[in-house]
Amino acid sequence: MQEKNLSFNNFEQCIKCTICTAYCPVVAVNPLYPGPKQAGPDGERLRLKNKFFFDENLKYCMNCKRCEVACPSGVKIADLIHSARRRFSRNIPDLRDRLLANTDLLGKVARPVAPVVNSIVSSKPVKAVMDVMMDIDKARAFPKYQRKGFVRWFKKEAADNQEAYSKKVVFFHGCSTEFQHPEVGKAFVRVMNAIGFGVKLVDEECCGVAMISNGLWNQARRHAEHNTRVFREVVTGEGLPVVAVSSTCAFTMRDEYPDVLDVDNSDVRDSITLAEKFIFEKVDSGEVRLAFKDDYRARIAYHCPCHNEKLGWGIFTKALVGMIPGVSLTILDSHCCGMAGTYGFKKENYKYSQEIGRPLFEQIRSLSPDFVCCECETCKWQIEMSTGYMVLNPIVILAEALDLEATAVANSVR
Ligand code: SF4
Ligand code: SF4
Repeated sequence: MQEKNLSFNNFEQCIKCTICTAYCPVVAVNPLYPGPKQAGPDGERLRLKNKFFFDENLKYCMNCKRCEVACPSGVKIADLIHSARRRFSRNIPDLRDRLLANTDLLGKVARPVAPVVNSIVSSKPVKAVMDVMMDIDKARAFPKYQRKGFVRWFKKEAADNQEAYSKKVVFFHGCSTEFQHPEVGKAFVRVMNAIGFGVKLVDEECCGVAMISNGLWNQARRHAEHNTRVFREVVTGEGLPVVAVSSTCAFTMRDEYPDVLDVDNSDVRDSITLAEKFIFEKVDSGEVRLAFKDDYRARIAYHCPCHNEKLGWGIFTKALVGMIPGVSLTILDSHCCGMAGTYGFKKENYKYSQEIGRPLFEQIRSLSPDFVCCECETCKWQIEMSTGYMVLNPIVILAEALDLEATAVANSVR
């Protein structure tokens, strides 16, 4: 792997205030984790002198980026940590980590026999075996695979109509929309078409976030290079934006590609966006009009995922969902849910993952909303499993709340 940026060494900007440590959800619950200040800027100083100062306990970092949001000096703390893991860790990912990291491969294998797979991985004896043999915690509920994926639906039901739109977006659907939650992709297409945009799919690969978390650096880098190359064709060639529905995919493809994987995406980065940001900006500029159903009513609690806090884009979801006339929207306190992609599946992390998420779960229970709104699929899995409350992607809420025909008419006459 190219080692152009040996580290993202703005660590000298650290003023030793320790705010990052106060904000880190892991250091509060796991005594094995040294914390962001020690693992990031302090550790980097030592590691640059001698690689033997590298501490394998850096694997406990969830890469939530909350430390970076809190840091008053703009130190890229989590990037320092994961860049150090990439350069110095001698830990070889085991079968469990490789399986969890390859979300797309697992999805392709599971899909043809989805009902069987879903039933097997939810049975107590199988969970007990996975707990002992693979260190996947037996208390963890698995998301359900769907037999019919999003892309198949799109090709059959929607692709032919998209050429009718003069304005288009490229849709990065991601693994969870394809394999577990095709309803999110269907909602995206319906909403985009209603506001006057056709949808184009490209030859995307998994964004690679789970490969980064699980230390499959070379594979993650190949995915980053592939996606960046494919995006380059449509962004610079056709002038199209790339719109995602998962804040983690959007964040990874914008910022982890250059900062952790050392993949130059500078010519496409600013064209990668999130559905809520894209739609809100179109509405705000007057280019798009939304017509809502008169009878839509919902009490919604919004959880902003950590990576969307890092992007600073939760404001767009709040504004967009807050526009729906029949909605009572509560913004949940800023807390990590504790899932962090594949982190919460692992036996060594499960109890910490639950402890980290507890304040969030308690607030949701005390509010008792009709459902929770969140842009991240793994937050959804954690919150649904831990609270029993349903979690919906904002684009699904929007598709339900909009009068799609009236919205299409409002936008076609403009
Ligand atoms: S918050 Fe930033 S400046 Fe403060 S100790 Fe952490 S890295 Fe250093
Ligand atoms: S990324 Fe999250 S878990 Fe890692 S050090 Fe920062 S706050 Fe802690």
